[in-house]
Amino acid sequence: MQGLSLKNVKISIKDVENNKQIYDDFGEMLFTHFGVSGPTILSSSAHLIRYKDITRKLDENKIRLYIDFKPALSLEELDKRILRDFEEFKNKDFKNSLEKLLPQKLIPVIIDLSGINQNKKVNEITKEERKRLVELLKNFEVIIKGFRPIEEAIITAGGVSTKEINPKTMESKLVKGLYFAGEIIDVDAYTGGFNLQIAYSTGFAAGQN
Ligand SMILES: Cc1cc2nc3c(=O)[nH]c(=O)nc-3n(C[C@H](O)[C@H](O)[C@H](O)COP(=O)(O)OP(=O)(O)OC[C@H]3O[C@@H](n4cnc5c(N)ncnc54)[C@H](O)[C@@H]3O)c2cc1C
Repeated sequence: MQGLSLKNVKISIKDVENNKQIYDDFGEMLFTHFGVSGPTILSSSAHLIRYKDITRKLDENKIRLYIDFKPALSLEELDKRILRDFEEFKNKDFKNSLEKLLPQKLIPVIIDLSGINQNKKVNEITKEERKRLVELLKNFEVIIKGFRPIEEAIITAGGVSTKEINPKTMESKLVKGLYFAGEIIDVDAYTGGFNLQIAYSTGFAAGQN
């Protein structure tokens, strides 16, 4: 699915060890040569990296991403939608019946994971098989193995504590004449311009003072 970019998907990140939802979001994501990326994924990584015991949990495959490819439809509505498509394509093979529903790159993967024979005629697909297909599209599971390296980071969490900085001047409360701005400070925000704003505003304040 490398290169596949999706616009209106719902994602959630779960710790399956104790069934805890760590983060959920709605919007854009993309599949890359290494795994997943895009705005919702970047935001989720900021939450994930702070999650307790994260290294062990990643090692043990306890952290999972769930993608809802059809967030506007309930399970029942999606089932009805698929039934309508199947009705239209009733004499076609399963592998040729998903074009209206899914982007091209997703189709072979979904067919494979659905466990339904790709050459099965659409009108022979059972209710049980359809149910599996619906669940796959609403709850597509990806095991999260780790983060990308620091060299590829967009922003960094951590840094000089804001408690040790005078917010009016950006001067250190510990060392006179030392000023901080931007990434070196322990502030970070979602992607979308907030981090640049932090750099500009704190840089301006430090420069003025
Ligand atoms: C790929 C990418 C995409 C991003 N997209 C967004 C976005 O869409 N929206 C957003 O808000 N933020 C985004 N960011 C984050 C944003 O760019 C940073 O938060 C911001 O630029 C930080 O500014 P800064 O001045 O603190 O640090 P930097 O911009 O990192 O500047 C530090 C400078 O110090 C220099 N330097 C380092 N060590 C030394 C040294 N020893 N001597 C002299 N110079 C040194 C470096 O070369 C560098 O020029 C993105 C970052 C990346 C990497």
